Amino acid sequence: MITQNLNKVKESLKDGVCLVAVSKYHPTESLQEAYDAGQRVFGESHVQELLVKKDALPKDIKWHFIGHLQTNKVKQIVPFISLIHSVDSTKLLREINKHAINNGVVVDCLLQIHVAQETTKFGFTPQELRDMLNEGEWRDMKGVRIVGVMCMATNTDDTNQIREEFRLARRTFEDVKKTYFKDSEEFKELSMGMSGDYLIAQDEHSTMVRVGSLIFGQRDYSH
Ligand SMILES: *Cc1c(COP(=O)(O)O)cnc(C)c1O
Repeated sequence: MITQNLNKVKESLKDGVCLVAVSKYHPTESLQEAYDAGQRVFGESHVQELLVKKDALPKDIKWHFIGHLQTNKVKQIVPFISLIHSVDSTKLLREINKHAINNGVVVDCLLQIHVAQETTKFGFTPQELRDMLNEGEWRDMKGVRIVGVMCMATNTDDTNQIREEFRLARRTFEDVKKTYFKDSEEFKELSMGMSGDYLIAQDEHSTMVRVGSLIFGQRDYSH
């Protein structure tokens, strides 16, 4: 099933859109099946779970961290992580920078913007994002490379609302790119879209979609 699901999702994506297979709560055998079908980019949202899976699976997997990241766990993922989608504070960025420098690596990061209605979602509001970039501390962080932004839309059936939130994210992305990353080729990723809304996100120029349940099925949270 996983192989068919994966192929179906891939066929629905435009050229150049990166598919992050979100494998949280799914067993390593499921990831292996997706790997055998050609998938190389996987997204996880819990550090402990990620560490276990990373050790059990092939070394050429690109691991993306997509969940809320606590500063005290940064150290464990910095040596190998390909992309952190969920940078939601300067404090976290500082911590990533510190450990990246200690490890002699540069960590690609996305800044998470809050565009959804729910108050529970993490991230900078568009204004907080501009304030943070304006303040400028990030410019001196040699251990991090800010390569774009990430967002999550409200969990709702109202597709107009979802589309509006994605549009706000896109406008913020374009605006920030123009203002702070004008001469940078690396600031180019707009990570948005999950199983329920990735086609809308793609329509609104997402460059990276994070799809879990459509590929792996429902998550079992009981263990
Ligand atoms: C779990 C998760 C996803 C994937 O959700 P699905 O609805 O299963 O596709 C995407 N992004 C983030 C940040 C997540 O935590």
